[in-house]
Amino acid sequence: MTTTTARMLMVLAAGWALAGAAWGQGGPGGPRVSQDVLRTHLITLASDEFEGRGTGQPGGDKTVAYLERHARSIGLKPAHGDSFRQSVRLFGVRSRIADSSVDLEAGGKALGLRFGDDWMWRSGDGRALNELDAEIVFVGYGITAPEEGWDDFKGLDCRGKVLLVLGDDPVPTAAEPDRFGGRSMTYYGRGPYKFEEGKRRGAAGVLVMYNAKSRFDPWSSVRNNWSVEVFKLKDQGGTGVEGLLTPEAAARLVRAAGRDFDTLRAAAERRDMQPVVLNARIRGRMVSDVREIEQFNVAGLVPGTDPVLKDELVIYSAHWDHLGRTAGEGDVIYNGAWDNATGAAALLAMAQASVAAPTRRTQMFLWPAAEEHMMLGSKAYVASPPWPLARTAAALNLDSMNTAGRTRDIGVPGSDRSDLHALAAATAKEMNRTFAKVWPDVRGEFFRADHFSFVQAGIPAFSIDWGLDFIDDPIVSKRRMLDIASRYHQVNDEFDPNWDLAGTTEDAQFTLNLGRRVANADAMPAWKAGDPYGRLRAK
Ligand SMILES: [Zn+2]
Repeated sequence: MTTTTARMLMVLAAGWALAGAAWGQGGPGGPRVSQDVLRTHLITLASDEFEGRGTGQPGGDKTVAYLERHARSIGLKPAHGDSFRQSVRLFGVRSRIADSSVDLEAGGKALGLRFGDDWMWRSGDGRALNELDAEIVFVGYGITAPEEGWDDFKGLDCRGKVLLVLGDDPVPTAAEPDRFGGRSMTYYGRGPYKFEEGKRRGAAGVLVMYNAKSRFDPWSSVRNNWSVEVFKLKDQGGTGVEGLLTPEAAARLVRAAGRDFDTLRAAAERRDMQPVVLNARIRGRMVSDVREIEQFNVAGLVPGTDPVLKDELVIYSAHWDHLGRTAGEGDVIYNGAWDNATGAAALLAMAQASVAAPTRRTQMFLWPAAEEHMMLGSKAYVASPPWPLARTAAALNLDSMNTAGRTRDIGVPGSDRSDLHALAAATAKEMNRTFAKVWPDVRGEFFRADHFSFVQAGIPAFSIDWGLDFIDDPIVSKRRMLDIASRYHQVNDEFDPNWDLAGTTEDAQFTLNLGRRVANADAMPAWKAGDPYGRLRAK
């Protein structure tokens, strides 16, 4: 007997033991996600050989080929004609800091801001040379939200101007405790919204003050995101300059322009705030390396069995990309083992389990590209969907999974916007699991993973999240999970042989069970009445 065979037998025995356990996680006869399969893919995708799965890098190409090869060998059907690939055309911009001379000035004097320490900037429109000489206007939070009766622009002609805006969204008040989501962040609080709004208004640029709620992302991780090559969809560029300032740099700018910073910030909390033209400019040359590239979403199908419902789709997604390899010394590979080799590997294991167990509706296993660059792959998917959005029942996303062991609870943030919540509750009950405590979404997590691209297209969707109620060694496990999460977007997000993948597998199983429940239900899940995204549901 070879050791391999012995190990296989042990795995089988373990599988039988679990099958007989009270939790009946796969449902009667349901497909079972294999921890071994998940582990093998996770180790491979997180290895240095895959070079951090960078967008526009050889490691990314290798990842796509790997997923495609396995999707085919598992027995998934191609989702794009006879191909598993969907083309995603991007432009990539890398700021050439040493060759650029851009600075902010106020009262006629340059501030001498240092890239990375005081601020970051980039070409948003994909031009290799941006010559900047533009007036800076403070526009509060830079938000136009009709449903909140809020408009920071007050008819300002933004053309040719650079907008200075606060990060986040207006703070709740005693009179309006629920405005802008209360303690939770709305999409209006996110940087991408502010850049998009500036673009819609024809501004020359947008400078966002990094602050408040979003400070939960340390400046160091934000800096990493701005120091690597930045990508956009080829046909969805932004304003000439996009920037991010530390609060200290923003305060220096405003003070040097002869204004009181606290007064401006306080005014931004009021509906009647008027834009303030500052005695300040952005000036200089911004030089960037620009290139156009083609990336790929990978997607395969398990066709449905119901003659009618098979025309409807349930999507499981997990982005394959991470930050890739950077220039420099030492460890230059952002392996992204947690983010998101875990999800990408889990999805392969889920797909493998599903091929022999189809549902009434068709199921799609989708690995979007370029999530780390503002979810470009999933945006490209909904912009040019291979399957009608109106017949897409739901999308369930996995991003950065629990690797510290089994938990009693499971996170379902944002599921409460639709019938997915009740379906998730039934799934959890069947698996003897509870819902994790829901905290106010102060970081706007709901808007920063691939499921949100589907939400913006009107499809009920959320990302399944980890719980923290660990079954084994709760204190140690929780500490380990928080340590893993603290490596977010750092080079030390690497695979650790001590990771306990039982919880990862169980969370993947939950996701699959929930998807199957959606896929076998008589009707597609509906949005809760009044949800703003429900109105976007394609007919
Ligand atoms: Zn991620």
